[in-house]
Amino acid sequence: MADAPGGRQRILSGMRPTGRLHLGNLVGALENWRALQDEYDCFFMIADYHALMSEYESPADISSHAREVLIDFVSCGLDPERSVIFRQSDVPEHAELHLILSDYTPISWLERNPTYKEQMKELTSKDIHNYAFLGYPVLQAADILLYKANRVPVGEDQLPHLELTREVVRRFNALVGAEALVEPQAKLTSSPRLLGLDRRKMSKSYHNQIDIADDPDTIRAKVRSMITDPKRIRRDDPGHPDECNVCDYYKTFAPDEPAAVAEKCRAATWGCTDCKAHLADILVALLEEPRRRRAELEADPERLLAIVAAGGEKAQAVARQTLDEIKGLTGLGGW
Ligand code: SF4
Repeated sequence: MADAPGGRQRILSGMRPTGRLHLGNLVGALENWRALQDEYDCFFMIADYHALMSEYESPADISSHAREVLIDFVSCGLDPERSVIFRQSDVPEHAELHLILSDYTPISWLERNPTYKEQMKELTSKDIHNYAFLGYPVLQAADILLYKANRVPVGEDQLPHLELTREVVRRFNALVGAEALVEPQAKLTSSPRLLGLDRRKMSKSYHNQIDIADDPDTIRAKVRSMITDPKRIRRDDPGHPDECNVCDYYKTFAPDEPAAVAEKCRAATWGCTDCKAHLADILVALLEEPRRRRAELEADPERLLAIVAAGGEKAQAVARQTLDEIKGLTGLGGW
């Protein structure tokens, strides 16, 4: 497997800017990405072309959401000095390679994509019956392949997405007769499943999330609203921590504490109010540093602009080189 310049393998990952990021994004992605910076040459993308696919009816918020995601990225420890942090649409090579790869991707591969079928059924609040949504795995492939990323951080459930990119690489390389595109490997990361406050999937569209940027009062109010063990009606009823979402949050955010929490819950020596107040203290402390960094970044818009401009330039330099190679192999450009 070829390494990126500098001898380190390269990682590409991204997040759609559809609003501020939440605790699920923190434990499911950002904490892993922060650690990967020590070992890999990292490219972190604010995927606004991907956001437009579902938000095209009201696109005005995409750029402000992209700014929020940039602040969340940096305040959670993604380091613009070590990693390339950029906005996808600042590097139009993504759109161009997407178009070229579309020529090499059979429609049947996209139609059989399980996520596509699932989202068509489940995402009823948006009209995603558009051409772009069917083709989003091709854009995803372009995102990864432009940077010749060796690794893509994914949870086990996302492996099929990466397989489609690998299939596109194999088909393209075979048809052009050159090992032009790098077949990326999965970098399996742990991502604890964190449910929303109401025990449904954590999602901005359900309004059941704790945002990384929430202030302490908001965090406390949200934790107080969490659904607990439905069988524990009165304070002196023994609880069932294994059936309680609050206990799951302890497992994720305070791994030393669940045993003691469960014992006090089962023995009814503390009430759900006490249990939630303690969890809220833990979350307020956890998010204190990102909140402090966010305040600094919000007070310095020039710095934000500089980060995204520098990231865009670095990303484009790499992307342009790959795209020129691909155009050369596909009869585009030159005489
Ligand atoms: S005490 Fe804690 S773990 Fe037990 S039911 Fe109440 S909130 Fe859940």
